[in-house]
Amino acid sequence: MKILVINCGSSSLKYQLFDMDNESVLAKGLVDRIGIDGSNITHKKTGSEDHKVSTQIPDHKVAMDLVLKLLLDKDHGVLKSLDEISAAGHRIVSGGDYFKESVLVNAEVLDAIKKCIPLAPLHNPGHLMGIEAIQHALPKMPNVVVFDTAFHQTMPDYAYMYGLPYDVYEKQRVRRYGAHGTSHHFVSLRAAEFLGIDISKIKMITCHLGNGSSISAVQNGKCVDTSMGLTPLAGVLMGTRTGDMDPAVVPFVQKALNLGPDEMNNFMNKKSGLLGISGVSSDLRDVEEAANKGNARAKLAVEILEYGIKKYIGAYTAAMGGLDVIVFTAGIGENSASTREGVCKGLEFLGVKIDPAKNNIRGKEAIISADDSRVKVVVIPTNEELMIARDTKRLTA
Ligand code: AMP
Repeated sequence: MKILVINCGSSSLKYQLFDMDNESVLAKGLVDRIGIDGSNITHKKTGSEDHKVSTQIPDHKVAMDLVLKLLLDKDHGVLKSLDEISAAGHRIVSGGDYFKESVLVNAEVLDAIKKCIPLAPLHNPGHLMGIEAIQHALPKMPNVVVFDTAFHQTMPDYAYMYGLPYDVYEKQRVRRYGAHGTSHHFVSLRAAEFLGIDISKIKMITCHLGNGSSISAVQNGKCVDTSMGLTPLAGVLMGTRTGDMDPAVVPFVQKALNLGPDEMNNFMNKKSGLLGISGVSSDLRDVEEAANKGNARAKLAVEILEYGIKKYIGAYTAAMGGLDVIVFTAGIGENSASTREGVCKGLEFLGVKIDPAKNNIRGKEAIISADDSRVKVVVIPTNEELMIARDTKRLTA
């Protein structure tokens, strides 16, 4: 069974074609700058070199047709007929509180995704264009939507509500939704499998640390709290995002710097975080390098990041009444041994003990806690696309 996983942005289309008989990737690629001058496709058939095509791509329908053509191409393709694709799975950033799990696409589902546009104005419109484009090209093929928010829908109300007047929740649906749910779900399942333990009996904290970072408390396989909020600005310090702040900082800084609401939003999302504190870069590799050379602000940025993650681990351990497993994933979580060590240092009182030699790994599954650590600490590379393909297979097989 072959499944096409699609992640569409407003001007981009990422795709991966899976052979679900063995969960291997047959081909993948990225269409960039859709509707903008200089559009191009980078396509890769597994085992071959990247194949780049530069051409005018005015909209998502043209982009999708080009992708399907490449999948059939005699040199760069992997299919004889488009009928070999059984279904497509789409990543959707926000399903608000409409969707608690992945679903098959129908008119009602598309309508609900549209209703969630105010919650993900930069993402949901692009996702809808992607669905429309493949429905146009392959009208008989089923489509499944997989939501970044769905895994967090099991949070209890006292964890997702904000202390605003209740009306604001009822009318504007303002509450914590969380993000990266597909990743938290994938790594929580995989960590339990990797450790050979029953996920329905354990308390786990999953740390997705990348350009955007979020931490989730996963009790008995269900998310009970997560650090991102109404939007992905909340939680720990990120590449260019502030993370949590006193909400009164917002009007204070707006007034002081004479910024409008959109400018302030941009300031908090694009100019802050590791970049804003260090003045060096949003990329942790650059910040760590500068810190190691003695740059005090870079060192401070690293300390804020590690301290913030540590505080979430403490809070979520209290929320769950214990802790059995910590999972690190995504760019920073999978690659930065020093961040993992910095986060876990001082958590010995919770039963967390890192083994520095075991922690000296990058980008692969590993137990990094000491043999006598009560809490198991693991690195699990995330694979959101595979999770989407699995859900798509489950709902269409
Ligand atoms: P992601 O958003 O998951 O792709 O993660 C991207 C981030 O991972 C980058 O901005 C880097 O800060 C971080 N990263 C990747 N490799 C390393 C590494 N070897 N050491 C530290 N940080 C890394």
